[in-house]
Amino acid sequence: MTARILIVDDVPANTRLLEAKLSAEYYQVSSARDGFEALEQAQTWQPDLILLDVMMPGMDGFECCRQLKDSPATQHIPVVMVTALGESAERLRGLEAGADDFLTKPVEYDTLMARVRSLVRLKRLLDEWRARGETARALGLCGERQPIPSVAGARALVIDEWELNGDVILRALARDGIVADPVRTGAEVIAAAAKRSYDLIVISLQLVEEDSLKLVSALRAADSTHETPLLLVAESGERARVLRGFELGASDWLTIPVDENELRARARNQIRRKFYQDRFRADLGTALELALTDPLTSLYNQRYLRRHLAGLMEGRGGHPIAVLMIDVDHFKAVNDQYGHACGDVALKLIADTLRASIRAFDSLARYGGEEFVVVMPGSDPDDAVAAAERLRMAVESAVFEPTPGHRHLLSVSVGVSCSSSSASTPEELLHAADLVLYEAKRRGRNRVELAPLMTAN
Ligand code: GH3
Ligand code: MG
Ligand code: MG
Repeated sequence: MTARILIVDDVPANTRLLEAKLSAEYYQVSSARDGFEALEQAQTWQPDLILLDVMMPGMDGFECCRQLKDSPATQHIPVVMVTALGESAERLRGLEAGADDFLTKPVEYDTLMARVRSLVRLKRLLDEWRARGETARALGLCGERQPIPSVAGARALVIDEWELNGDVILRALARDGIVADPVRTGAEVIAAAAKRSYDLIVISLQLVEEDSLKLVSALRAADSTHETPLLLVAESGERARVLRGFELGASDWLTIPVDENELRARARNQIRRKFYQDRFRADLGTALELALTDPLTSLYNQRYLRRHLAGLMEGRGGHPIAVLMIDVDHFKAVNDQYGHACGDVALKLIADTLRASIRAFDSLARYGGEEFVVVMPGSDPDDAVAAAERLRMAVESAVFEPTPGHRHLLSVSVGVSCSSSSASTPEELLHAADLVLYEAKRRGRNRVELAPLMTAN
C-alpha cells in the first residue's frame, strides 16, 4: 500500500537519508525544513503520515504538532516525532501535543517501516469513515456537528494475568475518568466486548496462559473489536514482537515498567481518535441509511454512490480509485421464465453475494434495475480486476433455485475503470466502466473487461 509521507527536519542530511529509505519502499515523499513549511504542506499536500523532528529553529516539533492537531484540515494525519532525546519527559510533551508515536535518532528502519505501515493503515480506515461522514454532511442529512467528547467516562478493557501491571494501569486510567474492566483471558475479552462497546483495549505481551499476539489477531478479526484501539504493554527488549503486533493491527504500545503519565497520554490519544471516528459514523446515522439505500437489497442507491465517489475523488490525494460496473446477464429471461417476484429474489441473492465478497472499505450500490457498482478506494487496476473476477466467480457459484430442485445459473458481466490521474472525474470513471461493461456483454457475457487507463493531462 503506497502512501504520502512528509518529512520535517531542519538538517537536510537527515531528510535525505529518510527520504532515500522511504522512496526505496515506494512511498511518495516530500520534505519541509521547518514547522511553518510543514503546516503549509500538510494542509495542501495532505500526506498520510508526518515524520516530525523535535528540535527545529523557529517553531519546534511540539508546537508544530499541536497546530497540526488543532486544525480540522490536518488533525487526522498521524504524526511520528523523531527525537534525539529518548527521555520520558520529552515523550510526554509530544504525546500531549497529540503525537502518535516516537522514533529515536538514529532511526531504526525496521521500527520506522512497521510504524509507517500500521499508522497508514489506521489512517485509511479513518479516511473512509471521514469520507462517509462528509458525504452525509454534503447531502445535508445530519444535524449540528457535536464536539469530540472528553475521555472521561470512556470504557476500557485491560487484559493482564498478573495483578501487578494491571492494577497500575487501572489506577492510571481512572485518573482520567476512564472506567477499566480487568479481564484475564482472550475469551473473556471477546465475551465482554460482545456485550458492550469498549473504547480501548490494553493487552500485556507477557500473557503466559495464551499467546498475546494471537489474541491481537483474534481481536482484529472479531466484529465487536475490529476497530477498537489496541494498546500493547511490552518489555523494552521485545521489539520484534511489538513490531509483529503492529503488523497484526495493534494501535500503539508502551513499555514496562509502566510510566503512568505516558500510559495516560497514549490512552487519551487513542480514545480521542476513536471518538473522532465514532463521530463520523454517527454522522452517517440511521436517517442517512434509510434515505440512501435501496429497499429491495438494502445496498446504497445511485444517489449516495455518486456523491460518495465525488467526495472520495476530491480528497483522494493522488490515491487510485477503481469503479466496477456490474450488470446481471440475461436477467430479463429470469423475469420472463419465473415471474417478477422470483426475479427480485435473484437480485437479493446477487446483492448479498456481492456484499460478502468486497472489502470493508469498498462501497457497493445498486445502481439501477439489475446493475450494481462497487467503488474501491486505494485500488490499482490489478487489484480491481482481481476483485471483479472474484465477484464474477462468486455470482456464478451462487445457488439460485427458482423452483425446488431446479437451479438457474446466474452470471454478471463487469466493466472496470481506474483513476490514477487528477484529470478523471467521477462521471468519466463511471462512463469508462459502462463502456467496457458493454464490451464484456459483446464478447459473450460472464466476463470482466478493464477500461484503457486514463492519463493525466
Ligand atoms: P444483458 O445480459 O444484456 O444485460 O441482458 P438483460 O436481460 O439483463 O438486460 P435488459 O436490460 O434487457 O433487462 C434488464 C431486466 O431487468 C429488465 C427489467 O425488467 C429487469 N429488472 C430491473 N429491475 C428489476 C427489479 O427490481 N426486479 C425485477 N424482478 N426485475 C428487474
Ligand atoms: Mg442492465
Ligand atoms: Mg443485464
